[in-house]
Amino acid sequence: MEEKKESYFGEVGSALKTLATGLKVTMKEYFTPKSTEQYPENRKTTLHVAARHRGRLTFIRDEEGNYKCTACTMCEKACPNGTIRILSQMVTNEEGRKKKQLVDYQYDLGDCMFCELCTNACGFGAIEFTNDFENAVFDRSKLVLHLDKEVYTGGSLPNIIDGGADWEVGTFNTKKK
Ligand code: SF4
Ligand code: SF4
Repeated sequence: MEEKKESYFGEVGSALKTLATGLKVTMKEYFTPKSTEQYPENRKTTLHVAARHRGRLTFIRDEEGNYKCTACTMCEKACPNGTIRILSQMVTNEEGRKKKQLVDYQYDLGDCMFCELCTNACGFGAIEFTNDFENAVFDRSKLVLHLDKEVYTGGSLPNIIDGGADWEVGTFNTKKK
């Protein structure tokens, strides 16, 4: 089949049309309000982190600091890559009944995919994700956290659990402390 060839001026015309289409998209994006975070300059001022952002796993504790984990291992089984390791022991309670007791709850942040299958599997509401994303360390072994041994009260960022500063679309969040 014979190819239909455009004339010289026809080709110039279609090239200009393509250029105009590209420029239209560029100009539209140029005037669209921006919401860029100037991190880390704004980490103590205008930084916004969505409350639902999955930064790291924590234990949910009551006012007295008690956790709800029963060492049932459902989260460990649900985790697809062995991020969670639970050590437990059997103890006899005051009523003389045998009960599982948590000895160590290991969570390797370096392996976590933040899929949240563990929190969905937990039938006791014992674990949740917090939006604390500043977890970089030089030594990988420091990413292995023992959730039962820590009382998480928030990261190094102000009001991070509430989402930090208000989200302002159309501004560059650049204010420095
Ligand atoms: S979020 Fe996913 S990968 Fe991370 S500990 Fe939970 S189940 Fe495992
Ligand atoms: S965090 Fe929840 S699912 Fe995991 S062992 Fe504790 S109670 Fe069971």
